[in-house]
This record gives sequence, structure tokens and C-alpha cells, in this order.
Amino acid sequence: MQDTKVSASALQEFDLIFFGGTGDLAMRKLLPALYNRFRDSQHTQGWRIIGVARQDLSREQYLNLVSENCRQFIPGGDFDERAWTAFTAHLEYLRLDGTQPEGYAELARRLQNSNDRVRVFYLSTAASLFAQICTNLAANQLVTPQTRVVLEKPLGRDRASSYEINEAVAKIFEERQIYRIDHYLGKETVQNLIALRFGNAIFEPLWRRSNVQDVQITLSETVGVEGRGDYYDRYGALRDMVQNHLLQLLCILAMEPPSSIDPDAVRDEKLKVLRALRPITLDCIKAKTVRGQYRAGAIDGAAVRGYLEEADIPPDSHTETFVAIKAELDNWRWSGVPFYLRTGKRMQERMAEIVVNFRPVPHAILPTSASEGNRLVIRLQPDEEVRLYLMVKVPGAEMKVRPVDLNLDFKQEFKTRQWDAYERLLMDVILGKLTLFMRRDELDAAWRWIDPIRDGWDALGEPPKSYAAGTWGPTASNTLITRDGNTWREDGYQ
Ligand code: NAP
Repeated sequence: MQDTKVSASALQEFDLIFFGGTGDLAMRKLLPALYNRFRDSQHTQGWRIIGVARQDLSREQYLNLVSENCRQFIPGGDFDERAWTAFTAHLEYLRLDGTQPEGYAELARRLQNSNDRVRVFYLSTAASLFAQICTNLAANQLVTPQTRVVLEKPLGRDRASSYEINEAVAKIFEERQIYRIDHYLGKETVQNLIALRFGNAIFEPLWRRSNVQDVQITLSETVGVEGRGDYYDRYGALRDMVQNHLLQLLCILAMEPPSSIDPDAVRDEKLKVLRALRPITLDCIKAKTVRGQYRAGAIDGAAVRGYLEEADIPPDSHTETFVAIKAELDNWRWSGVPFYLRTGKRMQERMAEIVVNFRPVPHAILPTSASEGNRLVIRLQPDEEVRLYLMVKVPGAEMKVRPVDLNLDFKQEFKTRQWDAYERLLMDVILGKLTLFMRRDELDAAWRWIDPIRDGWDALGEPPKSYAAGTWGPTASNTLITRDGNTWREDGYQ
């Protein structure tokens, strides 16, 4: 078995302060991720985590809360009682309302002897609190040159509100200190997409309009709004998923080879992709977008209610729980290649995958399936895998071909636990590596493309199309793609 410790860079001493230290994200993702890196000995000494929230808890009560919650999110095989106890010895709790000036003096007192250490403020609260928290941090002289701030999504509801938040944070932190997180970029398979594209010369000549017929990016969930109805109804799938995750994946897939893996080299190329997105205006919004909302249906045989029956959802809500978009890039490499983006809740399957469909052979001399092209499937969840489908002969007398996949089975090859996205991203923050985080101009360019879609839907005034829970979305989503002579992957070969 390979040793995960070998590849992990040693860390400097650090203090990590989680605003929202009792929240769902901290319990489900952030603390388990830090525990895993600790267990693998990446950070051994000279570090501290301070959970911050308004709840009145003693340190002991906080540790109990963390232990109770985190255990469920650390797979049994990875949970080691001794390592956990050693890990929690580094945990502290501070009761503090981040929006109020009182209480920061105590935070300052706890940090007073560690001004030369890496200091990370992870803002895992609603974005509406970010400005006030940053102001309070600065007012208490807590922002040192070694300080970084991590901002959780969603950063705003539109371009204007995103600008406001970024402007307020920029008053306190330099851009090099700001880590805007999109956890999809921390996934192992996204790293592998980068490795595949820029570590193998064979793909580069194929990676363009002359060879690629279409690209599909799907992020589908089987869950509904899960007790977050109030948040979700104000955002919807376009803001919650497309503006960040889907566009970030599109950027990694479509960007030109950067001159290096340095943060700005990569982010400059991603920005060019966002700026090349053809605007979706009112005259083409019906042809290029579909928005849907789930009604009652069944997931894995169990009946589930519709969106409008969920808690905290107004009965006349028009918020979309599904979006499909035909995106196009106006540049030399991708002109004429449709990028179909799709995301939804209460869909048939939970998955995140990127499909690159290559063009079929120009002249078919072999029977059956020969008109189908090769396909590269990059799956991010539930399992992370990369499959390249090639046409091969079916054994027997006849010359029949069908697609068979070359499967890069990472689990089998490397026999090592795959890091969770948050493990990589948290370590990158502490190590000061910005490559996998969004720069402010990227975020702005993404909103610049998203806002007119939202405005177009408002101007149309039509309700979202209904789809039964447990399906692949409204039928209009199929029309969006079949109109171009293409099909979603689940309707073709698997
Ligand atoms: P959550 O479960 O509602 O937790 C919010 C946390 O913030 C709690 O610890 C809460 O504790 C604390 N908090 C609220 N107001 C505060 C204040 N004035 N000062 C200090 N702490 C305060 O939310 P979450 O799901 O963890 O999400 C946190 C952020 O991450 C949100 O921006 C969310 O959109 C984003 N996010 C979450 C997920 C996820 O899977 N959960 C995924 C991606 C992004 P008190 O009420 O005790 O203060």
C-alpha cells in the first residue's frame, strides 16, 4: 500500500479559526478533513483550531459536540480512537458573535503570541456576515501578513451583491490572502483532468472543435432541499450550482494550456474561458436554457414529495431545482462545440460527471455502432474514475464493433485512500497555494454571464417546467440536446 504521507507537504505552524465552528459544514467536512490530514501526519505539532460560534458552550461541550457529529462523517476504517483524541487536544472553542465588536478582544488574547504563524480565518457562515467579520478582525489587529481568509460559497446572489462582498473583504485583505473556495476544484478527478490534459501529449491535438462533437457536464443529486428550503428558494439551481461548480469545471476542461501551474497562470486561462462564453440573451433563452422544478415522485422506490410541499417553500415559488443550458464558447478552439450543462435536485441518480464526445469516424466501413464516436467520461462522484471508450470488435465471425471502455481504476492502481476535496483545499490554504481558488475577476466574469439568464427568465415570466422526482428532469431538457442531433449520456451507451 502506498503511503499517503510521502506525497503530503509538511506544514508550517498554523492557527485555523472557523467562524461557523458548530455548523453543518464544519462538522461534516472541515473537521473530518483536518482529522484525516492529522492522522496521516501532515500536521503534527504547532497548530491549533478554534471553533467560533454564538452558542454558549464550554470547551468540553464543544469537543463532545464535535466528536458526536464528526464520527458519522469519518468512515469506520479511517477512525482511530487514539488519533482522534490526539487531534481534539488541538481544538478550542470561542463564543463570539462575529458581527459584534465585543468578544474579539478574547480572540486577540488567544492569538497574541502567534503573530508569526500562518493564520487562517475560515468564514463558514452566511456571506452576509463576511464584511462585518473582516472589519472586526482588522479593528482588533488580527490580520497579519501571514493571515489568509477563506470565503465559502455562495458569494452573493448576483453580480452586484458579489461585488459588494468582495469589495468589503478587499478593504481588509489583499487578493493574495483571499481564498474563494469551490470544493469541486479540490476533487481528485479534477486534478486528474488537469494531469490528463497537460501530462499527456496525445490529448492536446484532439482537444478542439475538429475532434470534439459535444461536451456534457452533469451534477445531479437525488436529495431535495434537506431542511435548507429558506436558503434554496432564494438561490435556486442556477446560482447554487451553475454559477460556481459547473462553470469552474467548464473552465478546467476548456482552458488553453497555462504556461505553468502557478495560480495566476491557471486563473488567467480560466478567466479567458469565462469571457469567451457567448451571452444568453432574451431572444435565445428559450432555445438554450431549460429550468425545471420537481414535483412528487419516487427515488429508489420510495415516494418523495414535490418542491412546493417542502418546508419553508412558498406554495407559488418559481425557483428552479433543475437547469440545463447549452453554453457556447466564442474562441478558436471551441467555436461550434456545444457545452451542455445540467444540474438538478431529486434526479434519478446522484452523480457528477464530465463527458467529452468525440466525432465519429468520417467514413464508416464497419457495421453497427461504427457511427458512434469515442467518449471520455470523467466521473467525480459517487466514485472517481476516468473511462475512455474505444470501438472494439465483438468476438465472433461477424465484423461487429461496439464501445468498450479503458477504465483508469485509481483505487486498484494506487491502493490508497483518496483525499476528500476539503483535505486538499485546506492544506493548500495553509501552504499558501492559490491555484485551486477563484480569483475575484473570475467570479465577476461568471456572474456577468449568469445574470442575463436570470433576468431573461424573469422577463419571460414563465413558471419552471415540472418534472417528476426520480427522473432526469423535464422533457424539454432532452429536446435542448436532441435538437442538435446529440443525446445525454444516459440515453446512449454506458
Ligand atoms: P449552518 O449549519 O447554518 O451553520 C452556520 C454556522 O455559523 C453555525 O456554527 C452558527 O452558529 C454560525 N454563526 C451564525 N451566525 C454567526 C455569527 N453572527 N457569529 C458567529 N457564528 C455565527 O451552515 P453551514 O451549512 O455550515 O454553511 C456555512 C456556510 O458554508 C454557508 O455560507 C453555506 O452556504 C456554505 N456551504 C455549506 C455547505 C454544506 O454542505 N453545509 C456546502 C457548501 C457551502 P451559531 O448560530 O451558534 O452562531
